[in-house]
Amino acid sequence: LLTFHDLTPLRRVEEMRADFVANASHELRTPLAALSGFIETLQGSAREDTKARERFLAIMQEQARRMARLIDDLLSLSRIELNAHRRPDTPVDLVPIVRQVVDGLEMLAHDRGVSVNVEAANALTVLGDRDELVRLFENLIENALKYGAAGKRVDIKLAPGAAADGSPEAQVGVRDYGPGIAPEHLPRLTERFYRVDVTESRAQGGTGLGLALVKHILNRHHGRLTIESAPGAGATFTVHLPTAGTGAA
Ligand code: ADP
Repeated sequence: LLTFHDLTPLRRVEEMRADFVANASHELRTPLAALSGFIETLQGSAREDTKARERFLAIMQEQARRMARLIDDLLSLSRIELNAHRRPDTPVDLVPIVRQVVDGLEMLAHDRGVSVNVEAANALTVLGDRDELVRLFENLIENALKYGAAGKRVDIKLAPGAAADGSPEAQVGVRDYGPGIAPEHLPRLTERFYRVDVTESRAQGGTGLGLALVKHILNRHHGRLTIESAPGAGATFTVHLPTAGTGAA
């Protein structure tokens, strides 16, 4: 008896993993190189220069924070992947979760001059992991505040709806009125480390992992993300989560 195994999918997974490690290392090496460079400068030419020292230390702190954010996101991603096949089974209401996230981002919204409006159903219950859902909405709303700031306004709408097959779902739309995203980027946005504009993402303190986290959290919840956008017309990121079997009406 001969059995054949198609190794192609396996090899593909291995390649993706290798790519991911290479990307993650590169992302960590960039701030690390900056830190090493400034340490050398502080030990050498800038030793007695108080003004330069202050400035360099501030940059070094920012680079260290960037490394910390990246490690944080990498750990979250691996934790979510570890539980990928265990669907959360606790009923949670999305409305207070979204409101809590909006409150937490009030400072950022204020800094960017953006007003956030939340329009919500009375309650919108899904089976979920509370912490992961907080993380998910943090990423989407933070992106809208950062990349869509020019629009001055972000609208969040929570409402019951139906999936294509008619099954009930909760829909949460996060709409901004910023520059939007060109269509060729849309299918790739949830890939790890994919960014439309790397410089802009770095300037905003991004890691390139936010939407990958969103996608993994949604997979675990049997949900999905849709993105509608056109250049100049802002962007709407909509989260769809099944509500059947939650005990909610
Ligand atoms: P990052 O850490 O870079 O923000 P994300 O995975 O959260 O990473 O987002 C990936 C990229 O998608 C961002 O770098 C940005 O180019 C683009 N993007 C995300 N949200 C928006 C938005 N609301 N408007 C325009 N571009 C966006």
